[in-house]
Amino acid sequence: MENEEGEIEIPREPIPEVLYSFYEERPFRICTRCGESLPEFDEGYRVSKLFKKGEVLMEYALCFPCLEAMMDETSEESKKRLNKFQAERFRNVSGFNDCNLCERTRDQARGDEYSLVGICQANDMLDSGMICIECMEEMAELVSEETRRNWDKFKEENFPGVPADFAPSPVPGPVHRTPVTT
Ligand SMILES: [Zn+2]
Ligand SMILES: [Zn+2]
Repeated sequence: MENEEGEIEIPREPIPEVLYSFYEERPFRICTRCGESLPEFDEGYRVSKLFKKGEVLMEYALCFPCLEAMMDETSEESKKRLNKFQAERFRNVSGFNDCNLCERTRDQARGDEYSLVGICQANDMLDSGMICIECMEEMAELVSEETRRNWDKFKEENFPGVPADFAPSPVPGPVHRTPVTT
């Protein structure tokens, strides 16, 4: 789709309920890390929710400056490995039914465990993705101990009691469908 200026228009849709904050029963309003108001970020924000057997294990929303900050905290070595993994595996799929990084569908995710990700802007969703538990585990194995400690810190500060195998999942960027780490 192109608009009058010949620019590619990004299809937008209202944020689906599955990406709402489970605890607040409405779209996320503030960034989990910095607490700033999400609708004010022109670049948008990213919502991630980890599900297991239909239950929400973890959910968070991050503004792009925080995503970048988390990426900065990732060691160079880890970043390189994650980028390589994602470049090799990234599939040009969107939506919540196909894993972005392998051939599995959501129904095929081991133990019915997967994460759903949405790139959002104000009340709209611009892009969406799904990552199965096995791909999350593979990514967790690629990162250095230091990076894993940083991820664990983020997790512990925000979600006491979640499983240890959590790794922030990659998603397509809002405009270019390239993988984004952390
Ligand atoms: Zn933030
Ligand atoms: Zn997968």
